Amino acid sequence: MKTALVTGAAGFIGSHLAEGLLDRGYRVRGVDTFETGTRQALEPLVDREGFSFAEVDIRDTAGVAAVVDGVDYVFHQAAVASVPRSIEEPVKATDINCTGTATVLDAARNADVDTVVVASSSAVYGSSEELPKVESMAVQPESPYALSKHYTEQLAVQCSELYDIDTVALRYFNVFGPRQDPEGEYAAVIPKFIELMVNGERPVIYGDGEQSRDFVFVEDVVRANVLAAEGDATGVAVNVAAGERITINELVARLNDVLGTDIEPKYDDPRPGDVRHSVADLELAQEALGYQPEVKFREGLEQTAEWFEEN
Ligand code: NAD
Repeated sequence: MKTALVTGAAGFIGSHLAEGLLDRGYRVRGVDTFETGTRQALEPLVDREGFSFAEVDIRDTAGVAAVVDGVDYVFHQAAVASVPRSIEEPVKATDINCTGTATVLDAARNADVDTVVVASSSAVYGSSEELPKVESMAVQPESPYALSKHYTEQLAVQCSELYDIDTVALRYFNVFGPRQDPEGEYAAVIPKFIELMVNGERPVIYGDGEQSRDFVFVEDVVRANVLAAEGDATGVAVNVAAGERITINELVARLNDVLGTDIEPKYDDPRPGDVRHSVADLELAQEALGYQPEVKFREGLEQTAEWFEEN
């Protein structure tokens, strides 16, 4: 039986990942500081056999060394996971995302961990208009967050070259699914719109709504992580997405369909700095990881909407 460490286990993706690993027969250790993560996200995990949790900051060298000891794989999800938050608090974002990642990678190589999978982001591509986004493109980090994710990737690649450890960086596009935080100005668009629309309220679209995103369901992200850990790939940064472009207008239409509502969005001025279009090329993901998206957008939306309706 393999043992995995999930950093950021009380967060949106980390909690799904911990659950997915337990379902696959792993022993799972989770760490988090509840910076944005919640005890509620741990609820489906705490009573499961093989799961343990420790409140450890990823910048705490001794604390991380203790939880990494005896682990086969590390799935590093903990981060300040928001562009606007990183612009507001660049020092904190850099400290958690860069120093934290260095601490996790260093502890992992000292503990002879097989593979570390680190969470990166499509934000590293910046606002260049070239589509689809291919890993061979030059990166263009345009926020402290994007820069910290570029650092995360580069440090992971370097570790695989300098030490006897495999590392894979996954460039997640727009991840969505149950339990994603709908609250506040930093909320992702899908949980935010679902929460408004199930309450009969109109979602606000910034700009004409023809901007597009590559929305990937969280279960596909979990699968990509497992493939990255269990496979032979190392020293690479790989896109993880659905490979499909959905406009924000289309998203509202699909949500109306799934929720059985007929709500018109409101339109406001475009937000400065928003990327116009985003879609991933998934050739490397297929080649290096054997990853292909499996969950159809509609199916993911249904599962997400169902969770929000129940909670
Ligand atoms: P999240 O905010 O729900 O999860 C991040 C978790 O890290 C939280 O539980 C938080 O409490 C924890 N954390 C923060 N600082 C910590 C510290 N110092 N020590 C220990 N734990 C700490 O965000 P998420 O959406 O689940 O993102 C997970 C990862 O995926 C992040 O690295 C993020 O940058 C990346 N990512 C997410 C998306 C997305 O669409 N959600 C897209 C691209 C990349």
